[in-house]
Amino acid sequence: VFANVVQAPEDPILGVTVAYNKDPSPVKVNLGVGAYRTEEGKPLVLNVVRRAEQLLVNDPSRVKEYLPITGLADFNKLSAKLIFGADSPAIQENRVATVQCLSGTGSLRVGGEFLARHYHERTIYIPQPTWGNHPKVFTLAGLSVKTYRYYDPTTRGLNFEGLLADLSAAPPGAIVLLHACAHNPTGVDPTLDQWEQIRLLMRSKGLLPFFDSAYQGFASGNLDADAQSVRMFVADGGECLTAQSYAKNMGLYGERVGALSIVCKSADVATRVESQLKLVIRPMYSNPPIHGASIVATILKDRELYHEWTIELKAMADRIINMRQQLFDALRARGTPGDWSHIIKQIGMFTFTGLNTEQVTFMTKEYHIYMTSDGRISMAGLSSKTVPHLVDAIHAAVTR
Ligand code: PMP
Repeated sequence: VFANVVQAPEDPILGVTVAYNKDPSPVKVNLGVGAYRTEEGKPLVLNVVRRAEQLLVNDPSRVKEYLPITGLADFNKLSAKLIFGADSPAIQENRVATVQCLSGTGSLRVGGEFLARHYHERTIYIPQPTWGNHPKVFTLAGLSVKTYRYYDPTTRGLNFEGLLADLSAAPPGAIVLLHACAHNPTGVDPTLDQWEQIRLLMRSKGLLPFFDSAYQGFASGNLDADAQSVRMFVADGGECLTAQSYAKNMGLYGERVGALSIVCKSADVATRVESQLKLVIRPMYSNPPIHGASIVATILKDRELYHEWTIELKAMADRIINMRQQLFDALRARGTPGDWSHIIKQIGMFTFTGLNTEQVTFMTKEYHIYMTSDGRISMAGLSSKTVPHLVDAIHAAVTR
C-alpha cells in the first residue's frame, strides 16, 4: 500500500551531516550543524550538567512518573525568570503562562498552534532569511507565513529600512517572529536603539511579537545581555510570546528541553491561556519528558551550580568569538580577496560568509568542507587546527 510513496529530500540543514558522515576523507570538516564542538572537535557535555545529573541519580525520591501536561512547575518558573529577568513585573503580577515543551522547535510549534486557534490574525511575518524550519513549523501549525526584509547582502548587515517598511505595511495585529539574539543564519542583530524603534513601531500597530530565543548566553556570553530585546518588549506591559531552548546554552540538544511563555495582560487571562495550551499539548504528545527539565531546574535553582553554568557558557561563547577572529586574521594574512570584516562583526554560532551555492559545492567537493548551501558556517564546528584548511578552501573558491 505504500509502494507509491516518493522519496523525500534530506532536511537542508540536518542533511549536511548525513553527507558529512558518508565522506571517508580524513580532512573533512562539518560546519553545517549548529552544535557546539570543543577545540578537539568533540561534542561537549557541560560539567555542571554532569553534576546536576549525579544529584538527580542519587536522589531516591526521584521517580519516573508522568509530568503534568504543562511540564515541571519549577522548570517553568525558573525559565520565565531566566528570559524575562527575576524582577520582571510580568512575572511578579502572575501574567505569564509558561509551559515546558520539546526544546525550541516544540515551543514554537505549540505557540503557533495556540495562535492559530485563539488569535484573531493568522499571518506571521518571519525574517528573510531565517532558520529553515520556521516556515514549516508555522505553516503546519495553521498560520499563514509572510516574510519581512532583514538582511542586506551588499552590506552584510541589517536591512533596517526594509524591515521597518515591511512591518509598517503588515496588517494590524499580525504576528512577527523575532530572533531574540544571534540571528540564524545571518549572525546580524539589531542594535538596542534599533530594537527600540522596532518595538515602538510594533506596539503602535498592535503587531504581536513572538520571540525565538535559541541562543540566550551564547551570543555574548552574558545571559542578561542576550535577553535585552525580549525584556524591552515585556517592560512596556504589552503581550508577547517567547520560545526558549536549552539546546545550545546548556548543551542539552538531544534532551529536547525548552519552554513557551505567553505574557498576557492580566493573571486571569494567563490562567485561561494556560488552560488552552493544555488542550494543544495533550493530543500532540500528552506531556513532556522529565529528565532534561530536571537537569535545568536543578542548575537554575542552585546558586553555585548556576554560577558554574555561567562560567562554562561564557567559555563556549568566547571560543566561538575567538574562532571568528582567527578565521578573519587567517583570511587577511592569506590575502584572500574580499572584505571579511563581517566574520568578526556577526554574532552567535554562525557566520553568513557570503559564499554562494556554487562556491559551497566546490568547497565540499574539493576540500570536504560541509556547510549549508546558503554559505552559512557554524563557528562552533571550527577549531585552530581546521582554520587553515577552511582558509585554503575559501581562498580557492573565491579566486577560481
Ligand atoms: N530557532 C533557531 C533560530 C534555531 O537556530 C534553532 C536550532 N537550530 C531552534 C530554534 C530550535 O532548536 P531546538 O529545537 O533544538 O531547541
